[in-house]
Amino acid sequence: TPDPEIGEELLSAGRKARDLDRAHVFHSWSAQASLDPMTVVKTEGPHVWDGEGRKLIDFSSQMVNTNIGHGHPAVVAAIQEQAARIATIAPAHVNDARSEAARLISDLTPGDLNHVFFTNGGADAVEHAVRMARVHTGKTKILSAYRSYHGGTDLAINITGGARRIPVDRAAAGTAHFLPPFTYRSSFHAEDDAQEGQRALEHLEQVITLEGPSTIAAVILESVPGTAGIFVPPAGYLEGVRELTRRHGILFIADEVMAGFGRTGRWFGVDHWGVEPDLLTFAKGVNSGYVPLGGVAISDEVYQTFAETPYPGGLTYSGHPLACAAAVATITAMQEEGMVENAARLGTEIFGPRLQELKDRHPSVGDVRGLGAFWAVELVQDRTTKEPLDIGELVAECKKLGLLPFVAENRLHLTPPLNTPDEVVRQGLDILDQALEVADRAVQG
Ligand code: PLP
Repeated sequence: TPDPEIGEELLSAGRKARDLDRAHVFHSWSAQASLDPMTVVKTEGPHVWDGEGRKLIDFSSQMVNTNIGHGHPAVVAAIQEQAARIATIAPAHVNDARSEAARLISDLTPGDLNHVFFTNGGADAVEHAVRMARVHTGKTKILSAYRSYHGGTDLAINITGGARRIPVDRAAAGTAHFLPPFTYRSSFHAEDDAQEGQRALEHLEQVITLEGPSTIAAVILESVPGTAGIFVPPAGYLEGVRELTRRHGILFIADEVMAGFGRTGRWFGVDHWGVEPDLLTFAKGVNSGYVPLGGVAISDEVYQTFAETPYPGGLTYSGHPLACAAAVATITAMQEEGMVENAARLGTEIFGPRLQELKDRHPSVGDVRGLGAFWAVELVQDRTTKEPLDIGELVAECKKLGLLPFVAENRLHLTPPLNTPDEVVRQGLDILDQALEVADRAVQG
């Protein structure tokens, strides 16, 4: 039944939008003809309303993006004010929104990442970080993890691990992959996190040795890999990667596009382990996606390479004032409202214990893992074989009951805005609890 807040006018606009979408919009990652996309007619805080006027709790944060929720009034006002004053300006000109955004990001990022190159999103941030690493080191090879996601452009998709890689091999030249730690489906036959982390590090060192440190410009790694499954790295792993790369004269690029800006309960995922990368890519949470923005935070040392020699790259929209004004307002709101601390608390007080309890009661749940407001529930046909479960029906049931999760393969990713009120988080998890009965039936039947 439609929410009474949603009038017939919005519903009919939604129906019209849907017809036009099916006629003219070409969607990402999809076979176009069989696509059945969900219409959204309204968003507010941690909620979205679909084309039938149904109110859903947004545990997807729209691709793990709206860290401050939908329609934050301070950010909306900042964008409006900026649009009226300076809506756009070429990257070569100084403007206050960009300068202030760069200062805030330099302050928040770890170590001496004191310089910011702005992009339009995550994939181009990755492309530029790789280019900087190649020019800085004079080497070409990039090592990345098999279980990873780094973006949809040519190079970014080819350093991405797993099924998302596409048969466009041109950009794959000069890239190689390694196995990251993932204890639940360990490639190293490890029995616990400590063993997994240790063996994954030994493996990475072997790959570096075999590929040849003199050929490798950078290792790129998500601090907490997101789209591939939300794997919190074992203690010592990222510190070990930092030590290995430093010892072999290789740059460490931390891809914080999804994990960054509070998602994990710290400003950046690397902060949990005190790791200071040479380059850090960000997007999404930097301004909660209200206006497209990404970028690369650059160390003093890499910056020096481009102090006298021009950097070979740029974008018309680099440091777009609307996007940067949104970033300043977003970061300020996050600081003033304690959202990062709140994400950490949601993880330890609500998600962690409640998901463990759901795992204990529901045979379809194989694994739950995460931290902060960044959690994965992995569904299996059988806990011993860990055979993935088809979760189409479970996802439909969640939506029917009013919960919108982020869906990836056999997993639900639970990634609400960092400021979602406790009672809404609990309500979302109650819905999941109820919906899991559908998945349990598939296991038992
Ligand atoms: N890097 C990571 C870790 C991501 O999660 C993503 C997107 O999900 C990207 C890069 C690509 O970002 P975008 O889709 O903004 O290009």
